[in-house]
Amino acid sequence: MERNEKLQKLLVMKFGGTSMGSADRMRVAREITSTQARQRPVAIVVSAMSKVTDLLLDTLRKAEGEDQTSLDANLKTLEERHVQTCRELLPVERQEAVLISLHSIIGEFRRIAQGIMMLGERPPRSVDEAVAVGERLSALLMAAHLEATGTPAEAVNAADVVVTDAVFGNASPLMEQTRNRAQSKLGALLEKGVLPVVTGFNGATTDGRATTLGRGGSDFSASILASVLDASDLWIWTDVDGIMTADPRLVPHAKVLPDLTYAEAAELAYNGAKVLHPRTLAPLVEKKIPVWSKNSFNLSAAGTKISPTVDAPMGPRAVTSMANVALVSVEPANPELNSVQVMSRAMGALAAADAELLAMTSSSYRQNFCFLIRREELPHSMAALETTFALELAHGYLKPLEVDENVGLLAIVGEGMRGTPGMAGRIFTAISREQVNIIAIAQGSSELTIAIVVRRDGLEKAVRAVHDECQLGTRQ
Ligand code: ASP
Ligand code: MG
Repeated sequence: MERNEKLQKLLVMKFGGTSMGSADRMRVAREITSTQARQRPVAIVVSAMSKVTDLLLDTLRKAEGEDQTSLDANLKTLEERHVQTCRELLPVERQEAVLISLHSIIGEFRRIAQGIMMLGERPPRSVDEAVAVGERLSALLMAAHLEATGTPAEAVNAADVVVTDAVFGNASPLMEQTRNRAQSKLGALLEKGVLPVVTGFNGATTDGRATTLGRGGSDFSASILASVLDASDLWIWTDVDGIMTADPRLVPHAKVLPDLTYAEAAELAYNGAKVLHPRTLAPLVEKKIPVWSKNSFNLSAAGTKISPTVDAPMGPRAVTSMANVALVSVEPANPELNSVQVMSRAMGALAAADAELLAMTSSSYRQNFCFLIRREELPHSMAALETTFALELAHGYLKPLEVDENVGLLAIVGEGMRGTPGMAGRIFTAISREQVNIIAIAQGSSELTIAIVVRRDGLEKAVRAVHDECQLGTRQ
């Protein structure tokens, strides 16, 4: 498709839940947006107001449990929060129309919740439809506020733009179809000089069934849209100064990184850094669209720029950690068992359980292997593994599956690790010096990341030891 002249230099910005958290926060977001919109075309993607998605999910659980009192109380909280924001944000003469839309969206949510209560269960597609209401409400308010302050804007439900597969709760985009819809729908608005305020988090299947992209998925929504609209930049506004060398709660002298490569940022996100949704970077790689992570609470901070390449210094750049993980070990008791087949079936079971594999190591001599998954994915992953291996476990061909929940993962990331001999040795020594037990080590073939599983109670110490040993933040 020909690239529209007017869409050149398009800036896509995403505002997270805290940046949408109140009338005051929306004013800041509007100021940022209108300043940029005076200079070039802008589209924004918004999260639900902070805590609203949790509230909606809790309401649906209450509905499933037939708890009408809590359901009503939650709906009241939802309504009051948005009505109050509307009143604080908009001039009186504009409030009425917005309140009508607001109540109508909340009414949709109420009907789905009541349906769930009657059914006594939460069908995933109804949950997805209901939970996208948070973003629809914030987009409505934000678009009205932009309009009221002189920037023509329109709220857009991403269900009309982002086409996905039918994996409810964790859908993936179908990029070509999304491109067509985005170019026609959002392109038309932009050409008219109207700023689209698109809901983050949600989409719909080709045949119109509501989906969501997974918790925290608004970052991903924004990168999908930046990609299909051929944006020149993506700015992601959050409540921290950028991506840091470590979690500042664990390492008080951690520093903001001025830049990172896509691969470094993706590794950090997948290994537990909270700043970006892990799937955010993939849609941008091919078009080399740079992403900025910025703080809407501190406009003077430069933020972190994420782009294809960086003049990276030698060695690692950041360390991240995950505490809520579990290590599962599988060990054949019978040498006849083909361990490659066992491994492949174990992976099949995990895939069917939709569990994410965080790290894996194997030993060829004892034919055993162990892998790390999130603790919240443990129950259904174990159920899937036990079903898959029911026969082998019953006959004792496989030893009982072992689970160790008393572990944590730390990951040391940096493009410069590739060319730094002895780095792994220094890292292991630094961790051992703190008397922290290393349980497993995994290094991907990219050599970008070393992932280390340690005893849970040594995790924080290990993070600090690595940060100091590698002098992270001093050479950035
Ligand atoms: N509101 C959604 C969530 O809380 C999506 C997002 O904020 O990115 O998960
Ligand atoms: Mg987020």
